[in-house]
Amino acid sequence: MKYRLNKFQKRLPLGGHHFPEKGAMIKGETFHEVVDLLTNFRLFNGRALGNPVREVTDYYASKFPWMVILETEPVKEEELDEDYVAWRDWISGVWGKPMGKFISLRESKDRLQICRGCPHNVGKPWDESEESIEFERKSLMLKRGNLVDEKICYCDLHKADISVSCFIENPIPVSRKDKDEQDYPACWFTNLGS
Ligand code: SF4
Repeated sequence: MKYRLNKFQKRLPLGGHHFPEKGAMIKGETFHEVVDLLTNFRLFNGRALGNPVREVTDYYASKFPWMVILETEPVKEEELDEDYVAWRDWISGVWGKPMGKFISLRESKDRLQICRGCPHNVGKPWDESEESIEFERKSLMLKRGNLVDEKICYCDLHKADISVSCFIENPIPVSRKDKDEQDYPACWFTNLGS
């Protein structure tokens, strides 16, 4: 069931407007302030944005049912590009974790050159959004501010941000080695440690 905020409700949720977010409590003066704070909190911490309006509404529906109204019209949920989700989740997964040793700029340049000519380097095949811009900022910080041609961004084979991976000695790969060799023999990722 889908709900929307009951804008004409005079009562507040018990404890005021709030939303529990993984060990933190987001509090605001209004529903919309909670949604904004939750959005900023997730983006700042490199977490997937999700759907803050829907999640706060559903939380209110379960805890404070007087705050919501049952949605009678069909609601169209926005579908996210699956490559975008994989890229975002890769950044989110490595954000805040030690990234391992950086390699020399010479070596990074060689890797970037290989990726540039690879059919698995698909750039950024998704539309920009508030969330994607924030994850791009995180990507820039993960590669310690090294600017990389924006045509080199996402590897659809390893499901990773290659503009970051190219600077790290042993980045986190996702796909299996035998498949990589079959698909793109020159891949530096595949040949790591061999
Ligand atoms: S398959 Fe290898 S060479 Fe190709 S884009 Fe991905 S990491 Fe770069």
